[in-house]
Amino acid sequence: MDLGISGKVALVTGGSAGIGLAAARSLAREGCDVCVCARNPERLADAVVELQEFGKVVHAVLADLEDPAAARRVVEETRDVLGPIDILVANGGGPPAGRFEEVGLDDWDVAVQRNLLGTVRLIRTVLPDMRSRGWGRIVTITSRSAREALDGLALSNATRSAVAGVVRTLAREVAGDGVLVNNVMPGPIDTERLRSTTGDEEALLKRGQSVPVGRIGRAEEVGDVVAFLASERASFVNGISMLVDGGESRVIA
Ligand code: NAD
Repeated sequence: MDLGISGKVALVTGGSAGIGLAAARSLAREGCDVCVCARNPERLADAVVELQEFGKVVHAVLADLEDPAAARRVVEETRDVLGPIDILVANGGGPPAGRFEEVGLDDWDVAVQRNLLGTVRLIRTVLPDMRSRGWGRIVTITSRSAREALDGLALSNATRSAVAGVVRTLAREVAGDGVLVNNVMPGPIDTERLRSTTGDEEALLKRGQSVPVGRIGRAEEVGDVVAFLASERASFVNGISMLVDGGESRVIA
């Protein structure tokens, strides 16, 4: 299936590794020019080399999205180099684990800044161009915790579900201008982040056994879903939060 997004301009934040890089790869494979932003210059440089293999224009911006000024700088630089942004994949680091009584108010501040307001700032910055040009796709990357309260993840449960609420709300407001907004909720996906929290190969295999498909997911399995939601083919999909979790969630709707 041709996703119909060849020649579009995509910005993928947190795009130097893991799910973000996989999404950037899927979009570049579909013919998008891609800008990736992240914090680590070496990883970012490696990501650019990898993405250039698809023959499209690739740009990278070094940025820490916890800096409130970063979203505007990243979006403006992307627009200057590649043109107006058609597709935003709002991705980045997750909040730390902890039960409600284990996390302090400072932790709440950081999590709200990073995972809620960071996403809101990016969306606010790309929306005017998308609306005036009559086409846009916004895909946020959150977690299964946006749908289901996961034990020991107080910050994630609260901020991820808030992003899902933003997506549902905004999707109704901007669809008339051709801008569709959706959210992807990954389950356990084999990335550095998961390896750092889960442990060695044996622990990963064990973690995979609790997933109905019998394994943890691959980053490209999320990247391809993101590319589909960002595509012309998903033109009647709007405001949803989609699980990509191998069937692990028990929530019905
Ligand atoms: P990862 O750590 O492998 O990659 C994160 C990427 O985001 C990197 O490119 C990093 O440089 C970038 N990044 C982090 N903080 C940033 C910041 N402040 N500014 C700019 N860039 C920043 O993580 P991942 O596993 O790919 O996860 C991506 C997102 O998906 C996270 O929010 C994570 O919580 C969520 N998630 C992951 C899993 C999983 O199993 N991997 C499951 C559920 C949700």
